[in-house]
Amino acid sequence: MNILLLGSGGRESAFAWKISQSSHCDKLIIAPGNGGTGAYGTNININVNDFDAIKKVALTENIELVVVGPEEPLVNGIHDFFLADKEIAHIPVIGPKKEGAILEGSKDFSKQFMERHGIPTAASRSFTPETLEDGLAYLQNHALPVVLKADGLAAGKGVLICTETIEAQEELKLMLGGKFGAAGATVVIEEFLSGIELSVFVLTDGENYITLPSAKDYKRIGQGDTGLNTGGMGSVSPVPFATPEFLAKVEERIIKPTIEGLKKDNIDYTGFIFFGLIKVGEEPFVIEYNARMGDPETESVIPRIENDLVELFLATANKQLNQVNLVISEQTAATVMIVAGGYPGDYLKGKAITGIENLRHSNAFHAGTLLENDVVKTNGGRVIAITSLQKDLFTALQSATADAGRIYFDGKYFREDIGFDLI
Ligand code: ATP
Repeated sequence: MNILLLGSGGRESAFAWKISQSSHCDKLIIAPGNGGTGAYGTNININVNDFDAIKKVALTENIELVVVGPEEPLVNGIHDFFLADKEIAHIPVIGPKKEGAILEGSKDFSKQFMERHGIPTAASRSFTPETLEDGLAYLQNHALPVVLKADGLAAGKGVLICTETIEAQEELKLMLGGKFGAAGATVVIEEFLSGIELSVFVLTDGENYITLPSAKDYKRIGQGDTGLNTGGMGSVSPVPFATPEFLAKVEERIIKPTIEGLKKDNIDYTGFIFFGLIKVGEEPFVIEYNARMGDPETESVIPRIENDLVELFLATANKQLNQVNLVISEQTAATVMIVAGGYPGDYLKGKAITGIENLRHSNAFHAGTLLENDVVKTNGGRVIAITSLQKDLFTALQSATADAGRIYFDGKYFREDIGFDLI
């Protein structure tokens, strides 16, 4: 069958790599893809939010399945767009409709959803410009630190952890005053939870679900998890502290009530749910939901799935995930992200990349790269994810880190400590 994959990051490279191995895949189109995805299919240079152009590709390329990588087209309603147009309504879309993507698109909605369905999460209250005074008074008596979150999508920058009341009050004024535009028109004020974070992923057809491998990502730019937040500097899967007992709690208290909650709320959800969790003592709490897979978690999760990924997608589209026997590799995957110097601040693009052919024990999942006259060049902040699948965490980390060292471009940087805190 002909498959269209939307996106251009390391996550989509991992999807493309895996989809291209499927016996069901005759043709894979990646839109827009990157400098590496052309190895698994054909890149077509269109924007993931240009729905009319996506429709055109779907028709001209006889697409029979659409897989959506990033959140933006989901929150903007790509799935609804397909359903509403009879020329393309028959093409299954992996990724929720707008009504489901709002779990990620609105933190206010997701907090209310969790409250309604008894899912453990930090206590919170939401405020708007009309209730600014109430918000300031609420902060006056709130324990510190306190977390302020812009309701809508803010590219990972809409969350502030404040250690002083006055600072939190000033930030609330700024956020409700338009600092994040429409995304900050509502602000969630939330209790700070102290613990260790991890991510759990499910694929659901709205009735049934399968739980994919858990992963941990490393968000900060500097060694020892210091410095500015990034899109993610590396990941590992599985997560050593996610014991079977802990994951059983996650399943009973979080995953099942979420799937049931979606059904009760009449939200027909087909696609991935990413549970951003925090382990407080031995107890799991939800920090956030995302309506898609994580990046760079996907680069560690996908190589551990032994099933044909397209079969999982077809079972999702046909509401037959209950018939799937998910097989997960016992091995450990580690991913090290190579980024451009200066990232997450200003950085240069267009630097020639060499050494990809010298990797010994890893896959290179391209992210911000571009192929120009047969030369792979940097084209983004996060450039290439190096993933190694090995018998244990130590070996996986060592090989991914060593292979990251075999890649060269001007200004290259990567963290050499990803995952070593878990050993
Ligand atoms: P991203 O896009 O990076 O996943 P986001 O902008 O959607 O993030 P959240 O995941 O809700 O926002 O929060 C970002 C980070 O802030 C979390 O990964 C966590 O480290 C921290 N954080 C959020 N809420 C809390 C909380 N209640 N207690 C402690 N830390 C929190």
